[in-house]
This record gives sequence, C-alpha cells and structure tokens, in this order.
Amino acid sequence: MFPLYIHKLMAGLLFVGALLLVISLYFVRKLTTELPAGGNRNWWKLLTALIVLFISGYIGFYGMKSGASYSNSEMLVPIIFFFGAIFVLMVCLLAYRTTCELKRVFVLEQESITDPLMGIFNRRHLDRRLQEEVIRCHRYNLLLAVLLVDIDHFKKVNDTWGHQIGDLMLKHVSRIFVDALRQTDMIARFGGEEFVILLPHTSEPEAYQLAERLRKTVEKTPLLLTHKGAPTEVRVTISIGCACLLPEEQDSAFDLLERADKAMYRAKHEGRNLVVRCLGHSLETGCQCEGR
Ligand code: GH3
Ligand code: MG
Ligand code: MG
Repeated sequence: MFPLYIHKLMAGLLFVGALLLVISLYFVRKLTTELPAGGNRNWWKLLTALIVLFISGYIGFYGMKSGASYSNSEMLVPIIFFFGAIFVLMVCLLAYRTTCELKRVFVLEQESITDPLMGIFNRRHLDRRLQEEVIRCHRYNLLLAVLLVDIDHFKKVNDTWGHQIGDLMLKHVSRIFVDALRQTDMIARFGGEEFVILLPHTSEPEAYQLAERLRKTVEKTPLLLTHKGAPTEVRVTISIGCACLLPEEQDSAFDLLERADKAMYRAKHEGRNLVVRCLGHSLETGCQCEGR
C-alpha cells in the first residue's frame, strides 16, 4: 500500500498546478485586451483554449487516480504537470509584462516627438525627418517642397483674447492644415506659432497651389467660441514661405529651410496674408521671390 502522504503530495501538486494555470489565464486575458483585434490576439485566444484543456487534463488525472495507487512512473506525471504549469505561468506573465513595457516605450517615444498642445510633430522629429527626406530625395532624384508658415500678428491675438484663446487658435489652425494635407505630407511645429510642412514628391507649382489653398482656408475659417457669454469669431491670417529642394545642387536641409524662412519673411515684409515662393538656390545668388 502506498503511503498516504504520497497521495496527498501528488494531489497537492495537481491542485497547485491547476491553480497556476488558472492564474496564467488571467494574464492571457489581460494580454489579449492590450493587443489590437485580429492577428496575435487570435493566437493568444487559441492558447487560452489550450490552457483550459490542460486544466481539464489535471482534473481528469486527479479523478482517475483518486483512491488508486501510483506506480513509480505515474508519480512523474503530477511533478511534470506542476513544473509545466510554472512554465506556462512564467511565459504568460513575461509576455504580458513585456507587452506593457513595449507599450509604455511606444507612448514615451510618441510623446518625445509630439507637440503636446496641437498633437502634431515637434521640432525634434521635424529635424530628423527633414534630414532623411533630403538624403532620400538627392539619392533617388525625387521632389521635395517645404512650406514655412507663420501666423500673422499672433501677439495681438494673445493680447486681445488671452493666451488660452491663443492656444485654441493654434489648435484650430493646425487642424486646418492637418485636414488639408495628404498622408505622405508631414506637419510639425517649428517654433511658437510657426509650422513647417514637408511635401514629398511635390513640385514647386503644386506646393505653391497648396500653400495658397491653406492661406485662403485659414483666412475664411474663423475660430468660433463663446467669450464672456457671447458667441465670438476670432480670425487670423498666415504668411507662408515656399521652397523646393534643388536636385542639381547638394542642397541641405538647412539650406532648404533657410530659403523657406527668407521667403516667409518677405511675405511678412510685403504685407502678410501672403504666400511667397523662393525660386533658385539662394538669395545671395539671385534667388527671386514672387508674391501672389
Ligand atoms: P508677425 O505677423 O510678424 O508674425 O507678428 P506676431 O505677433 O505673430 O509676431 P511673432 O511671430 O514674433 O509672435 C509670436 C507670438 O506667439 C509670441 C508669443 O506670445 C506667441 N506664442 C508662441 N507660442 C505660443 C503658444 O504656445 N501659445 C500662445 N497662446 N501663444 C504663443
Ligand atoms: Mg507671427
Ligand atoms: Mg513667429
């Protein structure tokens, strides 16, 4: 006759093993809610079904052996089941924790390249993307245009309506831009109320057309709000400098932005609410700037 404590030990291992598998199910469940629908989530659902099957196996084995004696080789089964359950729990727990960690890193990465006020890219990301685009465009002889946008008399908006409404105006204008751009374009906050729009695969006339469209849309789309209990419209205009990468020269990201900046300042100088394009390599070498 087998000693009773062996039976109890085997039953204990099966019970704890099944419990560990139930705990694994909890982590698998949490993990599936973290994952997007389809793809990997379905595989984890399949794993859930397998774990449930294993739990039934543990219970089945316990039922089979209750009251019966264990042979030496049968004693291995609860031991293997027990360590198998530890293994499954560790894999599920680690997978869950790794997913959460990756998600946190992703969020931090997104935050480090996003402007918190407007939700568009920030200067750091712009600098990186612009460098990459310029290298790619030179290598494959592709078009690249840049728009540098500055809101006109924005100080006056802040002074008249307050900084809070100034912030709302920034969001309003950035939304107009985002809505008008293609998926392949990129918009970033360049500084206070200045934006840079990168337009890959865009010729100079197309960039100019887009800039004009943006200028007109901003001009005729007021920010609607309630100020001191009364419905109010706040209007702004923008000045835009437009420049294109010069493929025949080894034009750098810096040169490109500098030309767009100079064109934008010319727009300011010529009365604002204007698009100015910079044609040619640089102002020093006879770059022409054309108003509307
Ligand atoms: P200009 O037509 O010459 O561009 O005139 P401006 O008044 O727009 O002049 P400037 O571009 O020098 O002024 C930028 C102002 O934008 C100054 C600053 O108070 C305001 N500003 C910058 N960042 C923010 C922001 O995040 N929120 C708010 N509300 N205002 C900002
Ligand atoms: Mg301004
Ligand atoms: Mg400015």
